[in-house]
Amino acid sequence: MTKSTIQKILITTFIVVVGLILAQSIYYAKNFFDKRTNHEKVLEVLSENNRLSGVSLEDEVKNIDALISKGVYNDTDLGLLYEQAGLIYNQLGEEMTYYRYLGYALYYLEQSDEKDYTVNIYLDLACLHINNHAYPAAEEMLSRARDIEPFEEVSNASIKSYAYRVLALLDTDKKNYTQAIEYLNKSQGYIDSIADSDPNAADYTRNNQITLAYIYLRQGLLNDCSDILNQFSESDVVETKKEPIHLRNFVIPYYQTKCLLAIAKDPRSTSPELQSLVDDFVKLCINSDCDKIALDTLLAMQEYCQDNNDEMQKILSIHIHNLSKEIIEQQSQTYSGILNSQVNDSRLSIAKATEIAEKTKSRTALTVLSIIITCLIILFFIIIILNSRRDGLTFLYNRRSFNYDIERIKRSMLPYSVIMLDIDNFKAINDTYGHPEGDKVLQKLGQFINSEVKANSDVRGYRYGGEEFAIIISKNSYPHTMEIAETLRRSMAATTWSFDPDLVITISLGVASGSFSEDVVKKADDNLYFSKQHGKNQIYTD
Ligand code: GH3
Ligand code: MG
Ligand code: MG
Repeated sequence: MTKSTIQKILITTFIVVVGLILAQSIYYAKNFFDKRTNHEKVLEVLSENNRLSGVSLEDEVKNIDALISKGVYNDTDLGLLYEQAGLIYNQLGEEMTYYRYLGYALYYLEQSDEKDYTVNIYLDLACLHINNHAYPAAEEMLSRARDIEPFEEVSNASIKSYAYRVLALLDTDKKNYTQAIEYLNKSQGYIDSIADSDPNAADYTRNNQITLAYIYLRQGLLNDCSDILNQFSESDVVETKKEPIHLRNFVIPYYQTKCLLAIAKDPRSTSPELQSLVDDFVKLCINSDCDKIALDTLLAMQEYCQDNNDEMQKILSIHIHNLSKEIIEQQSQTYSGILNSQVNDSRLSIAKATEIAEKTKSRTALTVLSIIITCLIILFFIIIILNSRRDGLTFLYNRRSFNYDIERIKRSMLPYSVIMLDIDNFKAINDTYGHPEGDKVLQKLGQFINSEVKANSDVRGYRYGGEEFAIIISKNSYPHTMEIAETLRRSMAATTWSFDPDLVITISLGVASGSFSEDVVKKADDNLYFSKQHGKNQIYTD
């Protein structure tokens, strides 16, 4: 293999490697820019304008699902998309899908740097458990939120205030009213700090006010409670019904507190106003999937209501009866939904795990194969490079190696000797027995030289060209140069050839020694010529 062929192979390999690196870089750059472009799309999807633009909830969630499955996003954007889709599924009544999507959202948000959003989702879940009176579950959600980020360190003031309002709600239901008010004041403090910059600050304040009214009611401070409720006109409250988030945080707590306050103030009331207030509240709760809050409220109203207020007790009992039936039915459906999703999830998770395992297996196989192929290519190159220094017929080093080694040994300043060998009358052997037999003679001489190389240290054999050979001897074997030359001469002359047992083939040798700049090769060649001129089959030296 010539030098230029090796160069071509190396250049091709280099180009392939550069190409691969370039392809990878383009892939990552494309991903980076796609994420940036998609970030704009996510902001658009999450913006309020989009939600109020008249697109149906079904179409909106379909659009988000399509975005999720097609695009590449950073973890925060993907988490927010899942959260948004989940909220829409919840509004569409697909509760299980909502919780599944919340799980996806949490997974991606927890990986991202946006801790505040993750805390927000855990706060929503805590609220949900408080509404269900599932306090240990609520506390677990709060502790997970705190693990993500202590509430004091939450940078978004509105989420920080939300966190303290949730703590206040939890303490209210546990009857720790003083602590609850303390938390609520803290929550309000954070809202006040963003009053000028956050357009929703007024909504947050209103939510806190209604929570405070509820706490006063539970404490028996009916006038204080009444003062707060009176701050809101009915039209304000009805206006905020459009958005589910306001229903949950303000409208329902408002009517809940109003119902409770009315009966607490007048336990004997049977007024048509109170009756229609209760009717409207129950309807609102049923329409907003808050049947449980309605039931809790009516049960509390029964406690406030005087025992002999038979008329109101009866109205409340009818509502409680209907709501209980409704809730049991819903709970059964939810329970079945949970069972179904559990069955589906475990089936899907095993299928997914198997798919991932298969992918990992084939990826590992591919990696191993690539490593093996790379090793083979490297080995191939090593063999090519090594072989480029050898002669293919005799496996001795070639003329190029000889020139290189001579230069090197000259630089070493050590004494060395060179034996030049030439087969006698080789042309005649070729002519008589043919080239293939001639090759056998060359190979045989190659084997003799190789035996000397193996038997003696610091001896190297070369095919100098055609039927000429050379040997370089240095260091330990340097004093044995003549012995080596003589062994070769004798071995060759003593060989019996299969193609002609009577044939004797001899070699002539020229030997020279020296070091550094002396032209030892030329001297050996001259001596070989001398041997040829003086009868062949002999060794001549200085
Ligand atoms: P002399 O004793 O003076 O060296 O005589 P000679 O016949 O050996 O003379 P010469 O050096 O001119 O002949 C060399 C021949 O070696 C000529 C060429 O055909 C033959 N030869 C060179 N390389 C090879 C080879 O690889 N295989 C074979 N079979 N023959 C080769
Ligand atoms: Mg010759
Ligand atoms: Mg010859």
